[in-house]
Amino acid sequence: MLIVDDDLRISRLLKRIALASDVETLILNDPHRFEEIYLTYQPNIILMDLQMPQVDGIEILRRLAELKSNAAILIISGMEKNVLETAVDLGRSLKLNMAGFLNKPIDVDSVKKVLVKTFVSQKPAGAESFVPTYDDVKLAIERDELVVFYQPLIDLETGEIDGLESLVRWQHPEYGLLFPDSFIPLAEGHVELIDSLTYRVLEISLRDDVSRRRKGVELKLAINLSARLLSDLALPDKIEKLLKKYDFSASRLILEITESGAMDDASLTMDILTRLRVKNMRLSIDDFGTGYSSLIQLYRMPFNEIKVDKSFVLKAMTDKEAAEICRITVDLGHSLGLEVVAEGVEDTETYQFLTQLGCDKAQGYYICRPIESSRLSIWIDEYNEDLQLNGR
Ligand code: C2E
Ligand code: CA
Ligand code: CA
Repeated sequence: MLIVDDDLRISRLLKRIALASDVETLILNDPHRFEEIYLTYQPNIILMDLQMPQVDGIEILRRLAELKSNAAILIISGMEKNVLETAVDLGRSLKLNMAGFLNKPIDVDSVKKVLVKTFVSQKPAGAESFVPTYDDVKLAIERDELVVFYQPLIDLETGEIDGLESLVRWQHPEYGLLFPDSFIPLAEGHVELIDSLTYRVLEISLRDDVSRRRKGVELKLAINLSARLLSDLALPDKIEKLLKKYDFSASRLILEITESGAMDDASLTMDILTRLRVKNMRLSIDDFGTGYSSLIQLYRMPFNEIKVDKSFVLKAMTDKEAAEICRITVDLGHSLGLEVVAEGVEDTETYQFLTQLGCDKAQGYYICRPIESSRLSIWIDEYNEDLQLNGR
């Protein structure tokens, strides 16, 4: 996406929203360089102001029409609605792909909606029907095709970034970026696969953490740990060894565990979980409220944190019962001395609702989508800058 606006504050806000939606973005403050940048960068989306000193937006629209651009164009301006409507009509008559207009001040949710609409994920053909086999996943790990995306968690009391969750992706040479739902269930069916996948994800995450630490950013790190691995007595030592290798303090590591029904040997599981805790790692119970994640685990196992499943959080604003489950889970967690995290926060209203409930942390598309390490560092800088300037 290319942002053409001489107002730096607005450009940076837009850029942050775009990054949170996983859209790569460039800001152009000097509209005189528009054509040069447009031709080298080839954006899919252009967000532009109509009124800029010296160059006017209409001129840019004409130029884009001459260049036969098919980028989605969104006009942003503080001008009256009818002027903006005319500009959009003009663009359409020039056969440009006009996505509409946004009025200043900018409303975050409408920008997000436009981005999502324009970027209906263009997956390569065949990706949907690709069903990986054991060998495919094994080779993917060996060939280093796994990548880690990160999603920030926000401390609802302070508004500060509290930590990151590592979410694995498979950068398939033919089918593009594949999501965990398409290969984790298979990997979980074979202990050795989920085992090597997990250590790979942990190692990549620790390596990325080292580069963030060099820039002075030190955040908690949450890793998804399949319950299948909780029967390996060597697990706590293996994890600890990796933490030492990267000089990562165990108290910054959160292990998110989803009960999968595989915890058949409860005393063995308990042994391993307790040893992880003794080594100062934190344990989180993932997808709380669904399937096997149940109350019984809460009082039997040494967890530090509960993650309210996103199925409740997503519906909290439209479904009374879902909202009630969120409220009860926060209270339950707190009365047991646990921190409570909500995942799947997609709008301001839900974010505020959870803050009012006293929920400790939030995670979701409203804050930021899972993104790659390189984009994440930009997002972190801009989030922190914004927090300092404008408060929560
Ligand atoms: P999870 O641990 O419950 O992770 C949260 C999922 O919710 C992620 O999906 C994330 O992208 C998605 N999400 C976050 N915020 C929102 C939101 O606001 N709205 C909606 N609709 N969704 C949101 P993802 O990345 O596709 O991961 C799916 C599942 O795959 C994870 O669920 C986790 O169970 C598993 N997984 C991911 N990475 C690993 C891994 O390294 N190891 C293991 N064992 N499992 C993994
Ligand atoms: Ca998780
Ligand atoms: Ca979850």
